[in-house]
Parts: sequence; structure tokens; C-alpha cells
Amino acid sequence: MTHPFLDLPPLTADHFAAIERRVARLLATEQDVVITQGEALLPLEGCIRGGARPGSTALNVVTGPYGQTFGNWLRDCGAQVVDLAVPFHTAVTADQVAEALAEHPEIDFVSLVHAEAATGNTNPVAEIGEVVRAHGALFMLDAVASVGAEPLLPDAWGVDLCVIGAQKAMGGPAGVSAVSVSARAWERIAANPAAPRRSYLSLLDWKERWIDGGRTALPHAPAQLEMLGLEACAARIEDEGLETVMARHASAAAATRAGAVALGGGLEPYVHEARDAAPVSTTLRTPAGTDAAALVTAALAADPALPLVAGGGALSKEMIRVNHYGADATRGAVLSSLAALGAALTDAGRRVDIEAARRAVSETWPSR
Ligand SMILES: *Cc1c(COP(=O)(O)O)cnc(C)c1O
Repeated sequence: MTHPFLDLPPLTADHFAAIERRVARLLATEQDVVITQGEALLPLEGCIRGGARPGSTALNVVTGPYGQTFGNWLRDCGAQVVDLAVPFHTAVTADQVAEALAEHPEIDFVSLVHAEAATGNTNPVAEIGEVVRAHGALFMLDAVASVGAEPLLPDAWGVDLCVIGAQKAMGGPAGVSAVSVSARAWERIAANPAAPRRSYLSLLDWKERWIDGGRTALPHAPAQLEMLGLEACAARIEDEGLETVMARHASAAAATRAGAVALGGGLEPYVHEARDAAPVSTTLRTPAGTDAAALVTAALAADPALPLVAGGGALSKEMIRVNHYGADATRGAVLSSLAALGAALTDAGRRVDIEAARRAVSETWPSR
């Protein structure tokens, strides 16, 4: 008897190369795409260890928790790190990046997170890319939470290393990720004596053993489940249409924001300006005197399938995340999440208006 996810034949080189091309299409990129079997932190670490070295100066833009991780890796590599941190309730501006670059002309590497699923903000990468390009630094972008949720154009924006993961708006498995690598990035990494070699973190190993060999012989057996999952979610996006998938995420974010405001009870959008709010997830600030984690626990007790989670670390007291991405980028998931939060707030002694929230969702995201 065959099992649905056991007994799979090995993935062929042709099939693997076809999945790479599908990912490249999704990113509208002409650059090399390297698919990495592992969560996105794997290529992110590989990019930093390949691109940074003792003697480099890196501008690390911190708009959420991942930027902090990147800063630590950059310092591990012996790079000087200039941290540009902005509060999690806003986005960084291209002017702020330009100012940091002007203050530190020696900066040769810039790391930025596009959308932050953990804090609900998103950054204007097209404008920032122009500034970074004019300066000449290598530009690494963490697009894990933006791919599939909002426009992502690494080539047009001058992104040298664009990292994505399948598990957020792409609606795919958590164990696979990819990075597009520009010719400049390959040159930089190849010229870095400290870049990982003969290592799972080595992008160069992949280039030499797979890409430069004409993509004919796989260096190792790819994880079939993850690769088939990546192929399936990219194909599903193509079938629905990338524009439609992105519009669904944008509508989910706008409807959640409007619905939460109408719900009341002291709940407020965590990200102050709607233009800085990420389509992938909406973060909400809970009223003083309540505990965000306790409200989420109460809401999930009614329906454990809702895409609700409390903020990480210190944010768990004051932030609720509505993860309306992938299969949860639906009006139904938004409405149920708001209703459950409304009930939890009511139980906590707050006055809410669930009908008003429902109306706000319908008005913001009309069903046609
Ligand atoms: C979810 C997320 C990641 C982490 O992806 P993993 O696959 O869990 O490593 C990285 N960056 C951002 C911005 C994310 O939202």
C-alpha cells in the first residue's frame, strides 16, 4: 500500500531545476535562485556569513525581532555593525537609511526585513533600494513575510540577496526557503575568504556544484516532501494569480484593522499608520489592564483554529497578532478572529461592539 507522503521517488535534477524556475518566476527575477532545505533562517545566515567579513561595515536596519538576530550574526562575522532601529509601530524611511549611509560612507552591506510578521509593519523597499544602490552596498532583504502578500521585485529594487520562505503568505511548508543571488553578490561572496565552504551554510558550494555544472547533477538528495510542497504552493499561487493572492492579503489586513477599531474595547492597531502596516499580519495593542496572552488563550479556547497569537517576548503582554496569511487570508478568518477577540474582551469586562466590527469588515472588504 502506498502512503501519501512516504515511498516517494527521488527528485530528479530536472524536476528540482523546474522548481527553481517557478520560484524565480514568482520573484520576477533573472538572478540565480538557490533553494535551501530548511527554514528561512538557514539562507539568511548563509547570506550574512557569505557577505560580511572582518573589515566590512554593515548597516543593520532593525524594525522587528529578526533585525536583532542579523546584527548578532554580522558581529559574529567580525563586521562593524551600525544598527538603525526604529520603533516597531512604524516603518523605516529611505531618508533614515540615506542619512545612516552618509554618516558611515564605509558601509558595504545593508540588511533589511521587508515585512515583519512578528510586529506587523512593512518597509518601503523600492525607495530604500534606490538609496542603497546609489551608495553601492550589497543589499540583503528578508522577504519571508512579504512574498505572496505584497509586491516583491528584487531585480527592479536592486536587492542582491532576497530570502523567502514558503510558510507564510505562500501557504506552503515551513521547512523550505530560497534566496535569489545577484552577480554582484556572487562576486562579493567569492572574494570573501571567510565565506562558508564545505558547509550547509555555503551558497558558494551550491553555485559551484549545481549552478556552474549546468544544473545537471544534484549535490545531494533534495527533501522530496518540502520540494513538492514548495512546488505545489507556488503552482497554487500561479493558478489563483499572484495579484489576486496579494489583494486577498491586503484586504485581510485592511479589514482586520478597520474591524478592530470598530470593535472597540480599547483594542488599537499596533502600527500607527495604515501605510506602514504589513498585509501579512495585523498587530493589535491591547488595553492597559489586560494581558494580550491571556486574551489570546481565551479566544483560542473557543476556536483553536483561529490565526491568533500573542506577541513574542515582552510584547506578549500588549500585542495580539492576527496572522491572516496563506489559507487564513479570508474574510471568514478575519471575522471569526474579531468575534473571538470581542468575546474575550467582554469576558475581561470590556465593552465591545461586535456588530460594528462585522459591518466595518464588510465595508472594507465587500463580498462580490
Ligand atoms: C517568519 C519569518 C522568518 C522566519 O522564517 P523561518 O522559516 O521560521 O526561519 C524570518 N523573517 C521574517 C520577517 C519572518 O516573518
